[in-house]
Amino acid sequence: MDFELSEDQIHLRDAARRLAQQEFRDKAGRWDKEEKFPEENKHRLAELGYLGLSMEREYGGSEAGLVSTYLVIEELAKVDLLTAMIVHDQNVSPRIIANHAPDELRRRVLPGVVKGEIECSIAWTEPEAGSDGTAIRTTAIRDGDFYIVNGQKVFTTFGDRAHMHLVYARFGPSRGAKGIGTILVERDSPGLTVRKIEGKMGVRGAAENELFFDNVRVPAGNVVTMGDPENSRGFVGPLTIYNGTRVGMGVMALGVAEGAFDLAREYMTVREQFGQKLCDMQGLRWMMADALIEIEAARCLCYKALALIDAGKPDPALCSMAKVFATEMAQRVTLQCQQMFGGYGYFGLLPLERMVRDVRMLTLTGGTTQTQKNVIAGHIFSQKSAGGRRP
Ligand SMILES: Cc1cc2nc3c(=O)[nH]c(=O)nc-3n(C[C@H](O)[C@H](O)[C@H](O)COP(=O)(O)OP(=O)(O)OC[C@H]3O[C@@H](n4cnc5c(N)ncnc54)[C@H](O)[C@@H]3O)c2cc1C
Repeated sequence: MDFELSEDQIHLRDAARRLAQQEFRDKAGRWDKEEKFPEENKHRLAELGYLGLSMEREYGGSEAGLVSTYLVIEELAKVDLLTAMIVHDQNVSPRIIANHAPDELRRRVLPGVVKGEIECSIAWTEPEAGSDGTAIRTTAIRDGDFYIVNGQKVFTTFGDRAHMHLVYARFGPSRGAKGIGTILVERDSPGLTVRKIEGKMGVRGAAENELFFDNVRVPAGNVVTMGDPENSRGFVGPLTIYNGTRVGMGVMALGVAEGAFDLAREYMTVREQFGQKLCDMQGLRWMMADALIEIEAARCLCYKALALIDAGKPDPALCSMAKVFATEMAQRVTLQCQQMFGGYGYFGLLPLERMVRDVRMLTLTGGTTQTQKNVIAGHIFSQKSAGGRRP
């Protein structure tokens, strides 16, 4: 068992740390306050090749693997979850396209994704299909060389700016997972309306959106995975990608917790009350010790799960455990770190107020804590895992 990072990984992580601390940290509050997407950060990430870290070389990526990719994302999340999400999102729909789309579509879309010229949202959730993702009603029905898409999506992150939406739809009359497939719908397609959802709690520089499809004609060449009413292949194929993205949510949460922890530790060494520094008060020292135990435990879970994916041995239940533990941990730890700042932590002048709001989304999106626990429980009681897990 090897817990050491390679030299290349250490260089990559340290470079991302410098970038995050020197160029992104001080502006993070501005994107939140102005509810503005950090365009300049995205350009910088593209310029440095961070948008193609896990992508195959033939599309311009560097095939660095998920462990290396998320080492970078963790560093970004320490200062700004929004900027971390820009890199993370390159590992969702683009990876589904890379693994499952026909050749022509891959070559048309992926080089632009790596350069930062094409953004692609995930449009899966619907008003009546949240945790139950197989309850979707959106349809994609063949009409000659086109598919006609009808339906409604909700919570589509970056849907207001994405050039393409990876839409989950039913390709014929079917129920459950059977018949569901995925199709790329381009931004300016006639019949597509996008509406931003207002009043978001955190990560305010990223917008979630409702998408309305009214007889939208999409070229047949844009089908990523074909839905077949006889089987669930068009749905199950893309699901494998979510092993990595679930852990990715955990890594982003880990990064936010670490960022909050660093700020609290620094403040505790200067703030004095009762003639004593906060860092000398036993009760607070133990709170920080507890926080560090949780951070390290989350790190072990997340990177073990990612290393197994990189090794071609994904463990879906472990991915769910990593997501649940790291995202729930980060909520507790950021709140505890905010507590160290007393009343000052409650105000937006300090990053803690933003971090507490930001990290909240990670227990919800990408499969809620409860649905992840259903996956874990399913694993516990499945025939395959009878006899328990082995280290
Ligand atoms: C900030 C944000 C960004 C998002 N981005 C995207 C995106 O880009 N694309 C996209 O398609 N979707 C996106 N989503 C949607 C997200 O995936 C869903 O919100 C999530 O799957 C939950 O669905 P729901 O909100 O309809 O809640 P519901 O499914 O209605 O759940 C309500 C509550 O019931 C619990 N619950 C549901 N079923 C069970 C069960 N079987 N057992 C136990 N508890 C259960 C849930 O955990 C939750 O607590 C985003 C959501 C948020 C908040």
